[in-house]
Amino acid sequence: MNICIIGTGYVGLVAGTCFAESGNDVICIDINEEKIRILNSGKIPIYEPGLEELVRRNLKEGRLRFNTNLDKAVKESFLIFIAVGTPADKDDSADVKSVIKVATKIGKAMNEYKIIVIKSTVPVGTAKKVCEIIRGATTYEFEVVSNPEFLKEGAAVDDFMKPDRVIIGSNEQKAAAVMEELYSPFVRTGKPIVVMDTKSAELTKYAANAMLATRISFINELANLCEQVGANIDLVKSGISSDSRIGTQFLFPGAGYGGSCFPKDLRALIQTAAEKKTEMRILQAVEEVNQQQKLKLVDMISHHFQGKIAGKVFGIWGLSFKPRTDDMREAPSIVIITELLGKGARVKAHDPEAIEEAKKIFGNRIEYYKIPYDALAGADALVIITEWSEFRRPNFERIKKLLNQPVVFDGRNIYDPKRMKEMEFDYYSIGR
Ligand code: NAD
Repeated sequence: MNICIIGTGYVGLVAGTCFAESGNDVICIDINEEKIRILNSGKIPIYEPGLEELVRRNLKEGRLRFNTNLDKAVKESFLIFIAVGTPADKDDSADVKSVIKVATKIGKAMNEYKIIVIKSTVPVGTAKKVCEIIRGATTYEFEVVSNPEFLKEGAAVDDFMKPDRVIIGSNEQKAAAVMEELYSPFVRTGKPIVVMDTKSAELTKYAANAMLATRISFINELANLCEQVGANIDLVKSGISSDSRIGTQFLFPGAGYGGSCFPKDLRALIQTAAEKKTEMRILQAVEEVNQQQKLKLVDMISHHFQGKIAGKVFGIWGLSFKPRTDDMREAPSIVIITELLGKGARVKAHDPEAIEEAKKIFGNRIEYYKIPYDALAGADALVIITEWSEFRRPNFERIKKLLNQPVVFDGRNIYDPKRMKEMEFDYYSIGR
């Protein structure tokens, strides 16, 4: 199939590349000329494991192209995916301006029957709106499909190639059949393609993220209670997660969730409900707990140093919102570091991939180190914010020698408290 993907970010680039990998002819479009230049040189502008190799191969074999000319790409393609960003607007609703802009351009570029697929995460009713916009700009027949994306940054290629399910929102059978054919190579292990109406598909994406964020805030709140009553969240967690109705996933206590999806999607869903005079009380609490949780490490640090943070030096490991990505959007590290700087601390930070992104946020207000241990020289404590796997088995003796005092604040519970005590660290983690 001839496919055009508009918006070549985390989602558009992965989707376009994976569709090319399964034999389709794909052209990825973006307004960012620099991004397109980098991609055409066979490099990728983001860090996503396994993606660059796939991009290079499909580029070389001519199945994957990158361009800024939307009009031409739409004319050449049968399936047009919209994968532009939908960031939070001022009132927390999803800002769909880019989606609307792109829809208008698609409408003007139409030259025959096409299927327009919305992959961006958009509020309920957006497919209908996009349909009206295109209808107003062309006399050609077309159909609009909602096909939300569930990939996780850091494992995006695998998630796209082997999805747990594919959601297709279509009010027309013809478009749904084309979409099922497109996705059939990705669900050969029997994973379902669930076809539904567009509104239900749009809401499904928000519902999934809301459920996952709820589990995180739930376990974080429980971890905080463990601290108060002297219980251990690791034990409580293994006790509850062995119940198959509960399971093990997304029950890791930590310094709060972040990223480009959970926070904004949760708030957008709350806002959608508010527009319909409906209150999402559970989700409001989930967000509130998460905001508090991002400050948890700062509270622990303040407590340990008896409020005397000014002039202290903190070695930070992990800046990205989660491991295996360079994405800094709504990362807990932003809140934690900003708080520490505000209290007069000095921050020396290391991240395996996110330093360049972090520089866009903190500039020269913090120091950056490529080697994790270099961030610890002369620091008063190590603070772990993101659980990159390279932090799991460090040389503790070396850490001890580098730090002014052996103090570790672990926002992801990656070390064993008993072992840390044996090694004579002052060790703080969440809920244990
Ligand atoms: P992103 O910011 O990484 O990429 C968006 C891209 O769209 C950018 O490259 C931008 O330059 C381009 N763009 C913006 N306006 C444009 C226009 N008018 N024409 C052409 N290109 C334009 O965003 P992302 O993380 O890929 O997310 C895209 C959508 O997918 C969002 O709605 C997001 O909520 C959703 N989503 C994201 C993830 C994720 O993990 N990142 C997962 C599932 C769904």
